[in-house]
Amino acid sequence: MTPRILIIGACGQIGSELTLALRDMYGSEHVIASDIREGHEELMQSGPFEILDATDKEHITACVKKHGITDIYLMAAMLSATAEKYPDKAWALNMNSLFHVLDLAKDKQVEKIFWPSSIAVFGPSTPKQDTPQQTVMEPSTVYGISKLAGERWCEYYFKNYGVDVRSIRYPGLISWKTKPGGGTTDYAIDIYHKALEKGTYECFLKKDTTLPMMYMDDAIAATTNIMKADPESVKVRSSYNLSAISFNPEEMAATIKKRIPDFTISYAPDFRQKIADTWPQSIDDSRAHEDWGWKAKYDLDNITEEMLSNLQSLV
Ligand code: NAD
Repeated sequence: MTPRILIIGACGQIGSELTLALRDMYGSEHVIASDIREGHEELMQSGPFEILDATDKEHITACVKKHGITDIYLMAAMLSATAEKYPDKAWALNMNSLFHVLDLAKDKQVEKIFWPSSIAVFGPSTPKQDTPQQTVMEPSTVYGISKLAGERWCEYYFKNYGVDVRSIRYPGLISWKTKPGGGTTDYAIDIYHKALEKGTYECFLKKDTTLPMMYMDDAIAATTNIMKADPESVKVRSSYNLSAISFNPEEMAATIKKRIPDFTISYAPDFRQKIADTWPQSIDDSRAHEDWGWKAKYDLDNITEEMLSNLQSLV
């Protein structure tokens, strides 16, 4: 049976591309986009949209009933860099919205939940290379604490109430359609915009700050694949490690220079350096390979090619 989908936080960096991908897959009328604000034109014109606050359980419940929703993708959250500025607001949004959708599934009002976690669940005491699925997890950011708590609650609702919740720990995501929403890896998008606009970029991380990253098309494929997988094959019900590539700002600048030889980069690390320093450099995602066949397609060179040509076509 075709799922009837509600995406909460559909106008953000991931939600806007996820909405379009799911509408291609299942038909526009089956995919209801929602957010506290309107999104870009392509998204707004591609199918049904509701203004919906992720912290308003009554309104979410009414929306689920109105549209006969079976699956919810909860993409609304406050991201790492912004959450450090507003810790209590970040905690309230990230946790309450998750409880609302988990409880709807517990009460059998919806069948399936997707909820994104992040590499921010790891902390300074976690092994930095090939970070395993199960390891020391002592996040030191508000965002990371909210994601780790969220993972534990997802597993709890699965084990105790049979809730079919599925989750992946996204690395930093690179995309061109929608601007990023205040994360620590946003430099890896800004750099392409500035390379094309000004030929130069001042990076807020040090040149040797290696972090796990992924192109948006890979992230969307992972998201739709885990949601389509047989329930028995989704064995991890906290959240899956997910990986594509790892690189630092200097390496990224080098791939841009290959295409824009006069491009220059300088470094002025700010508060986000402290966050990045607590995160892994590379991720072991073998469980996602084994359980539901995950494999990334894009490497750094492909990403640079895609980003520059797509952004250029917008000018
Ligand atoms: P984003 O900030 O770009 O988008 C979030 C969307 O949620 C925005 O459109 C915003 O308007 C909306 N929103 C905020 N408060 C809301 C509320 N109260 N009710 C309804 N909508 C609200 O974020 P994103 O990058 O698209 O991230 C989506 C999810 O993926 C988040 O859970 C985030 O933590 C996770 N994630 C993202 C990345 C990344 O690199 N982008 C990496 C790891 C995890």
